[in-house]
Amino acid sequence: MTAASPCSGRSTCSCCTKSAVISLRDRNLQLCGDHFREDLEARVSQTVRENTMIRDGDRIAVALSGGKDSTALLLLLDKVVKDYTGVSLAAITVDEGIAGYREDTVVSAVRLAADLGIEHRIVSFPELFGASLDTFLKGKETRACTVCGILRKKALATAAQQAGADRLATGHNLNDEAQSVLMNVLRGDLPRLIRDSGKETEFFIPRIKPLQEISEKEIAVYLMIRGAWRELPECPYTRYALRAEVRTMLSKLEYDYPGTMKRLIQSRKTLSACLKKSDVSGPLQHCKQCGDPCSRELCQVCSLLPSLRL
Ligand SMILES: [Zn+2]
Ligand SMILES: [Zn+2]
Repeated sequence: MTAASPCSGRSTCSCCTKSAVISLRDRNLQLCGDHFREDLEARVSQTVRENTMIRDGDRIAVALSGGKDSTALLLLLDKVVKDYTGVSLAAITVDEGIAGYREDTVVSAVRLAADLGIEHRIVSFPELFGASLDTFLKGKETRACTVCGILRKKALATAAQQAGADRLATGHNLNDEAQSVLMNVLRGDLPRLIRDSGKETEFFIPRIKPLQEISEKEIAVYLMIRGAWRELPECPYTRYALRAEVRTMLSKLEYDYPGTMKRLIQSRKTLSACLKKSDVSGPLQHCKQCGDPCSRELCQVCSLLPSLRL
């Protein structure tokens, strides 16, 4: 089915005679731009349908940082929702206050939402928590991703509730999900590993991840095809994270052993199904301070904020 063009050294699309723009090694497929776009859009639709991520009449809040993943997510959901009746989208951008990074992506987010004619709201850390991430992190940079992750989740859930949304969609891709599995294993955090595979219990609004089976590389190529590719700065805090090392390691493994990331996620599903009956995360209760649902006395946000007091 596949044929390499002897002159260019580039391969031909597995479905037509055009040049391939991407090689999907785990599926042994080479696809041209048109066939890749069609294939990816169909796979996202299928993920959404099979996991009942969207129902008729839903209002979906979409986390839109303005970076690659969330840009692709909004472009794709804008198409996917047309298969349903009465579904509306509301894009949400969280401005954490990261100098030299977030400004550009916020501009990008505003432009995209306007181009697609989608309602858009921006919430900021200073307005929700009293200070920017940069201010919170002075001298505590090594905790950046943990602190930011907890506060961002809360900010998104709050904004999604304000928007009257039934669900919150985030741009987590295959690489992110595989990294999370491995990180939880490396930290010995089994409860979290299991919790990540199911519904989010920490907040009221169920979260959906329509790009969970799409790789970082596929998202980049999709954005190029859609003319939505933009070179944006990297978050200055990522170099402090365990995730950065896990990311490099997994990319190498995926290259050497195609399908590694999908198998890693499958192992989480299998493990979670085996443990379904036993309770690894404790019963759901309500935070003593803010009343949010959580698995301990205080929710993550209320436990965290005192340690960041300026
Ligand atoms: Zn083709
Ligand atoms: Zn709380």
